[in-house]
Amino acid sequence: MTAYGPTSAEGARAPGPGSRTPLLGLRVDVDTHEGMKSGVPRLLDVLREANIKGTFYLSMGPDNAGKAIFNAFRRPGFLSKMRRTKAARVYGLRTILSGTLLPARMIATAFPEIARRIPAEGHEVGVHAWDHRRWQDRLESFSEGQVARELARAYEAFAEIFGEPPRTFAAPAWFANDASLSFQENLGLDYASDCRGEEPFEPIIGGSPLATPQVPTTLPTLDEALGDTHADARSFFGSMVGAAWRARWPVLTVHAELEGGPYAEPLRWFLQQAADHEIRVVPLKELLAARRAAAAPLPQRTMGYGTVPGRHGKVSMPVAG
Ligand SMILES: [Zn+2]
Repeated sequence: MTAYGPTSAEGARAPGPGSRTPLLGLRVDVDTHEGMKSGVPRLLDVLREANIKGTFYLSMGPDNAGKAIFNAFRRPGFLSKMRRTKAARVYGLRTILSGTLLPARMIATAFPEIARRIPAEGHEVGVHAWDHRRWQDRLESFSEGQVARELARAYEAFAEIFGEPPRTFAAPAWFANDASLSFQENLGLDYASDCRGEEPFEPIIGGSPLATPQVPTTLPTLDEALGDTHADARSFFGSMVGAAWRARWPVLTVHAELEGGPYAEPLRWFLQQAADHEIRVVPLKELLAARRAAAAPLPQRTMGYGTVPGRHGKVSMPVAG
């Protein structure tokens, strides 16, 4: 068996008071119609078996995922990455064509009953997007009004399904801007997960701190790692056990289309490994609560952009200054 785990990392942790149990925040992103329809139910089953709760972020509106794949044809190295990640098999042709040659299908709004299973089974649920693809492609050219409309539409759809407004939001592709952060601030969310980073923090935009804290994704995702740092899902998840131990407030993001699809078994194995290494996997709100219970206040960090290995384009993250 691979040697990884707590032995050398134990001293590096900062667990909550009264507990030596390391935490791992689990975030599930739902980006496509197919991910909502079959990935979410499978993930709910996997998590129930493992007796684990996580935080699900739902794309509410149209699935234009196909546009991403068509756009990606313009980038060098795309075909080899597609082959390594088995994109056609993973996403299926209907998803690849959705919003391109075939009409876009709706995501969470098409499956309100599946959506309601998420909180009914004890998980946290929040908003990921109205139109994930449109946000990723056009956020930079959106007016403040367009940003507000995209968010408001998603929040309304969420409230219609769940009978109450969302308490948390995660920007599509970890891509936020001052307008989206300001709009969220007005809604008084408990927290958001809009960026990559190292630990929960209070964001500063335009020189002013916001009251809505960020709980960033801290670990790499499977799709970033495959064909880049890891040859297969098992070796990726094996390394994540050690990475979760070494990080102070680790958050792992999985995708309904991947870990709820062809990579469900590697995820199941990872959750067992996490349990064997006494890592407690929790929803993000629980990770934030534990962080707040720790001695020091949340750091304040200026929001900016950067890149992460294996992912095309820039993502939001705290920057110096
Ligand atoms: Zn997403």
